[in-house]
Amino acid sequence: MKKIESPAELFEKLQSVKPGSVLCNYSMEQCEKMFPIVEEINALKKERNAVILAHSYVAPEIILTVADYDGDSFKLSQDATKVKEDTIVFAAVRFMGETAKILNPTKNVLIPGPLTGCSLADSITSEEVKALRKKFPEHSFVCYINTTADVKAECDVCVTSSNVMKIVANLENDKILFLPDRLMGANLKNELKEKNVDKEIVLTSGCCYVHEQYDPDLIQFFRKQNPGLLVVSHPECHPGIALQSDFVGSTGQMVEFLQKTNKEAPVLLLTECGLNARMQYEMPDRQFIGSCSMCKYMKSNSLENILETLRHPEKAHSIELDDCVAQKAKKCIDAMFEYAAR
Ligand code: SF4
Repeated sequence: MKKIESPAELFEKLQSVKPGSVLCNYSMEQCEKMFPIVEEINALKKERNAVILAHSYVAPEIILTVADYDGDSFKLSQDATKVKEDTIVFAAVRFMGETAKILNPTKNVLIPGPLTGCSLADSITSEEVKALRKKFPEHSFVCYINTTADVKAECDVCVTSSNVMKIVANLENDKILFLPDRLMGANLKNELKEKNVDKEIVLTSGCCYVHEQYDPDLIQFFRKQNPGLLVVSHPECHPGIALQSDFVGSTGQMVEFLQKTNKEAPVLLLTECGLNARMQYEMPDRQFIGSCSMCKYMKSNSLENILETLRHPEKAHSIELDDCVAQKAKKCIDAMFEYAAR
């Protein structure tokens, strides 16, 4: 996407963003204040031979003004393999930075936000996975990409929300332990059943605190209030949401779906509000209703802390991994690329 080059251009885009939070009401004055920071970041990127990767859930001004690559976990993990620069500033959370480091061990990977966690990634440890391995010795261990490098190192194949169904359906083993998201796992079970794919799936108990909040009982209410409503949800939502949705998919797949649908239909987009913001400025004439669920981890990234990271990379949160863990985790991620390409 072409980067924004003036405060007025930035304001024009951001004034379409109204997901419901005061944090997302942008003024021209704010855009004017942001612009010197944007210019310094873009100059420092060149000076430090750095590149910025940003997840779709971070604040829209980061994506519009300084990000070199943006998108969902799968796209960003592919993008990370193409980076030529020495430093990757990853506006996202720690597990994503770890994936970038595993795929680019010689690069300096820095996370600008102070809250680097994720309720899913933090829900299970490698020790717990080792114990589960003993309990379920015949199962293939499939982990969602939202896991730490330590956890990936103990699993057979990693998946993202865009390829989980394809990979699990194609695994030779019919006994699967899927971790850590119990809601995505329940959605996976339903989808496998619907497609007559017979797999035994064991789940663990993690979930994303953002997607868990959506209440399936409210969908009917929204449909009644908004005739022709399209409900589009992420597979980290409750199965009661997925079953009532017109489309369920990763953030990248949701964008593709919305680009193909009737522009007149109102949309209830059930995922972190960063994607709502992006859709609002990319489709300013479209009606998006309800929903502002913010991830405190993703939103802890800001233009200010990206600038600080580039000014003082030596003080920034840098990803360091044990070689053995990185090699084992890489095998798990490579298995995902291999299965996804089949
Ligand atoms: S939105 Fe949920 S899964 Fe994504 S980083 Fe935040 S807590 Fe983790």
